Amino acid sequence: MSQPETFAFQAELAQLMGLIINTFYSNKDVFLRELVSNASDALDKIRYESLTDPSKLDSEKDLFIRIKADKENKVLEIRDSGIGMTKADLVNNLGTIARSGTKAFMEQLTSGGGDISMIGQFGVGFYAAYLVAETVQVVTKHNDDEQYLWESAAGGTFTIKRDTEGEQIGRGTVIRLFMKEDQLEYLEEAKIKEIIKKHSEFIGYPIQLVVTKEVEKEVEDEEAAEDDADKKEDEAKIEEIDEDEEAADKAKKTKKVKETTTEIEELNKTKPIWTRNPEDITNEEYAAFYKSISNDWEDHLAVKHFSVEGQLEFRAILFIPRRAPFDMFEQKKKRNNIKLYVRRVFIMDNCEELIPEWLSFVKGIVDSEDLPLNISRETLQQNKILKVIRKNLVKKVIDMFTEIAEDKENFNKLYEAFAKNIKLGVHEDSQNRAKLAEFLRYHSTKSGEEMTSLKDYVTRMPESQKDIYYISGESKAAVENAPFLEALKKRGYEVLYLVDPIDEYAVQQLKEYDGKKLVSVTKEGLELDDTEEEKKLQEEEKAAFEPLCKEIKSILGDKVEKVTISHRIVDSPCVLVTGQYGWSANMERIMRAQALRDSSMSAYMASKKTMEINPRNSIVKSLKAKFDADASDKTVKDLTQLLFETSLLASGFSLDDPAIFAKRIHRMVKLGLSIDDDAADADVAAPVAEDDLPPLEEVDTSASRMEEVD
Ligand code: ADP
Ligand code: MG
Repeated sequence: MSQPETFAFQAELAQLMGLIINTFYSNKDVFLRELVSNASDALDKIRYESLTDPSKLDSEKDLFIRIKADKENKVLEIRDSGIGMTKADLVNNLGTIARSGTKAFMEQLTSGGGDISMIGQFGVGFYAAYLVAETVQVVTKHNDDEQYLWESAAGGTFTIKRDTEGEQIGRGTVIRLFMKEDQLEYLEEAKIKEIIKKHSEFIGYPIQLVVTKEVEKEVEDEEAAEDDADKKEDEAKIEEIDEDEEAADKAKKTKKVKETTTEIEELNKTKPIWTRNPEDITNEEYAAFYKSISNDWEDHLAVKHFSVEGQLEFRAILFIPRRAPFDMFEQKKKRNNIKLYVRRVFIMDNCEELIPEWLSFVKGIVDSEDLPLNISRETLQQNKILKVIRKNLVKKVIDMFTEIAEDKENFNKLYEAFAKNIKLGVHEDSQNRAKLAEFLRYHSTKSGEEMTSLKDYVTRMPESQKDIYYISGESKAAVENAPFLEALKKRGYEVLYLVDPIDEYAVQQLKEYDGKKLVSVTKEGLELDDTEEEKKLQEEEKAAFEPLCKEIKSILGDKVEKVTISHRIVDSPCVLVTGQYGWSANMERIMRAQALRDSSMSAYMASKKTMEINPRNSIVKSLKAKFDADASDKTVKDLTQLLFETSLLASGFSLDDPAIFAKRIHRMVKLGLSIDDDAADADVAAPVAEDDLPPLEEVDTSASRMEEVD
């Protein structure tokens, strides 16, 4: 007999098990759903393998899930004839390898925002067994390995050994739960039936319950039979036998005994729900089916059940969940989203070719009449049938969005959960881009607490307004007071706030809506319709400020591309705008966050900034006066640097060298407080590039100047 080997659970899993065991949960039923779901997954896997190699089923021909309750020993068994686990699988899948959802799930549970029934979504459903069991054994047999026995009573460790003594199961897995004393109700047939009906009705394999029945059986009463034998001899001599008498006689000869028999009862309807007529299916049934394929604990938000006929035939049921999964945009995560069937036979989970990435949150099944049964993952990619199915699915999901949008509250739910996906769709799906644009919602200068659609925006546009304006930035708070909005607000033009990193990507692809261009207010070339009179004034200002603009450019050097006068700002002295095709300040921020900063792309795309100065602003006017009076005035240089740096911030850029900026500000503060620099403290004595920062003595004195440039 082999010795058991002991393993330690991965730390987070051990923690999770502790939490499951020691916290009170009222809804322990989930354990059975999770174990049945694992059994079903394991059966899917062996069935898929058998499509290309039928001999894989030789170890056990029938595909089933079998539940057996042993009340005497307080053991509940869930057996499947699925793929089973090799020893290595056991070690990895049941204990030693971290699962990405463990931590997220524990956080949800302990924060009170979670519920134990969510466990399946976080990829740790197996451990729900410890809700009801003190000790769990897993007997498993994979075609490529021997039969093993895994066992753990939690406590941080588990053991594995070769299982030569137990019943040899051929292929598959038995989960054996040694029930806690207070959880014996789960050994009751009625309870098991109720849970299976509720949570696992639509599992695609027969779920069998081994029921033991006590039947009363009539057996011959041996003692009576002996007496009888004597009697018979006597009676044989009597010719006429009363029939009734004979019957009464027989009853005397047998007695009733109780005998237990076992029978197998099938608990679920395995006729696939999608083959039924939608009119006969209740929403509860759809919800139950949805939960069984998605691991979700809540009902779906929307469902679409349809069939396509003609050149190509398939049936499908698609669901939109109420929430985004916790790891939606995690790369390389395998998903259980759209299951592919071919003529009722399960082919695979997560068929990526069936649905584009931006719709990765949609759950459902597709059952094709046309695909070959032995289709492999490799050939899927070129498959024309799949391409057509995919196109249809996308169209149906968009129809669902449209239907959901009829109810504002539901749409808000959808948008809250999946706005990023819709925007990703706008970015990636050129065919459906225009349709998807209808679902975009943004806050704006006029939307208040609500968000506005582009359609509503357009209805509010004043007649003189030609384009749709937007500003992009980190948050609503960061953009709503931006200087860029000044002139537009003054004209009564609405500006959309694009504050999701993906917004700017999406808008760059969208380009226009309803024939109206989408225009960034932070980029060059913003054209506002001005009166002839205004234009003339602007020309004059341009001429008057030309020399100052040149001077500023020469002071700032490479930091700006050019310096011009601006009409997009009303109150602020200046802003920094970027080129039409380069990155905006927001995009630069996003790219920096993605650490693409030093790549060649970043050098090429990095915002080329144009400084726009406001000729009607008092600071700019005084600066001009100073410059006109003495072109070599040193304060012009210093103030220009300061103006540039503050407008970097106000325009949504970050400072390359905050220390120099801080030092300049400190000096201004000192001027304001009339502090002599001789009394300088250590704080402002930090080394700073000298040519950027002329010594204070050279600054043309006094606080009165500060007031002047209010
Ligand atoms: P998930 O099902 O989301 O992967 P679980 O915690 O429910 O997470 O299961 C962990 C893993 O253990 C499964 O991915 C599978 O590899 C393995 N497993 C669990 N139950 C079975 C089973 N009945 N047959 C084969 N493998 C199983
Ligand atoms: Mg599972």
